[in-house]
Amino acid sequence: MSKVADAVVIGGGMLGISTAHALATQGLDVVVVEAGGLAGGTTGNSFAWLNATSKTEDATYHRLNRAGMNRYGDLAEIFGEDAVDHGEAGEISWSDPSISGSDTALTERAKQLIELDYPVEWLDAGDLAKLEPSVAFPDGAVGLMSMPDRWLDAPRLVRLMAQDVERLGGTILENCAVTGFTRDANGAIASVETYAGTIDTGHVIVAAGVVSPRLVALAAGPAGPYIPVNGLEGLLVNLPPDLGGGLARHILHPPEPGGLHFRPGDDGGLLIGAEDLAGFLANADEATAIAHGRQQLLSRTLKFLPDLPATEAKLRASARVGVRPMLEDGLPIVGPVDGVAGLYVMATHSGITLGPLLGDLVAQEIVTGAMPEMLAPYRPQRFQQL
Ligand SMILES: Cc1cc2nc3c(=O)[nH]c(=O)nc-3n(C[C@H](O)[C@H](O)[C@H](O)COP(=O)(O)OP(=O)(O)OC[C@H]3O[C@@H](n4cnc5c(N)ncnc54)[C@H](O)[C@@H]3O)c2cc1C
Repeated sequence: MSKVADAVVIGGGMLGISTAHALATQGLDVVVVEAGGLAGGTTGNSFAWLNATSKTEDATYHRLNRAGMNRYGDLAEIFGEDAVDHGEAGEISWSDPSISGSDTALTERAKQLIELDYPVEWLDAGDLAKLEPSVAFPDGAVGLMSMPDRWLDAPRLVRLMAQDVERLGGTILENCAVTGFTRDANGAIASVETYAGTIDTGHVIVAAGVVSPRLVALAAGPAGPYIPVNGLEGLLVNLPPDLGGGLARHILHPPEPGGLHFRPGDDGGLLIGAEDLAGFLANADEATAIAHGRQQLLSRTLKFLPDLPATEAKLRASARVGVRPMLEDGLPIVGPVDGVAGLYVMATHSGITLGPLLGDLVAQEIVTGAMPEMLAPYRPQRFQQL
């Protein structure tokens, strides 16, 4: 195959497909090159909670995440409400008066969110019981609902966007890795080498998640920029619909120090994760770490869902590992790569919340040549200045 395209996007996850969709919508002839299947990377192993609730320390980054959530409204108009919003909206956290500082922590969280104009609502015991009848709330608990939060079946939306890219004249190449790049006499990108042949293009967007730094290095050579994307593993446990279905109606964050969270699964079962399992594979052999993490997540969840049959849950739960692309400073990296005209890189954690917005902003920049103001804090150049 030898092909010519206005732009080549490397990676068929949420970031790559969102960008390809925005470029195709602007009339560009775009090719997506994906080494495996669509959403087969981190996007297919994500908790997929759309939120700005967990990003309260940096107001600019909080606003970026709010804008990311709002961008889903545009996608709902194209793909339908069901494609972008599953189940009941809202995330519920609650306090446990028997844990010292639990009430204060929740009040503090509400204060921060209200200061940021984030819509939240206090819930009393009656509200909690009505909203989540299967959850064992402690006596005296109060709840806090973050109203705009929601979750989605991210792989499904990726597939819908990919179909639309093809309808708009673009090409999606699955099971087709990028293996190299050619640059012209001025050092600008001239073509992309793939398993399926060469694609001549003036614009390459690297959206390959944790692999992005390696691809940028392949294109830019030894003098290329420092792109500090690290892989941070997370563990997710699934219970099938006949076991975990209906036990949670919202995204739920119980009062426990490890940041346990669960929600209805994409298949109608139950999906469980925890913040303290981020990086859980470090210094452990993989099979043991996964088995241990799985048991731990189930035991912790059972405390809050007494109707869940413990033995059956432990027998039938499945576990999977996802690897978050995590920048050294915890923020996204989005922008052109210095020294290689036409090469662009984008990677972030919270990429389900941010992907469609970032894709739109990147397409704007590629089409107009001007940086959208929202991207200014997240340029690759900030790491070269350290
Ligand atoms: C456990 C867990 C929970 C999470 N929870 C949330 C959450 O609640 N909310 C949220 O917003 N985010 C969450 N995230 C983060 C979010 O899932 C990621 O930020 C997002 O999926 C990253 O998408 P991506 O498109 O950048 O990467 P990926 O989905 O990894 O896509 C990159 C693609 O590039 C392809 N690729 C790699 N090398 C090549 C090559 N040489 N040629 C061609 N293709 C290549 C890969 O096959 C892959 O499909 C979570 C992540 C994890 C692991």
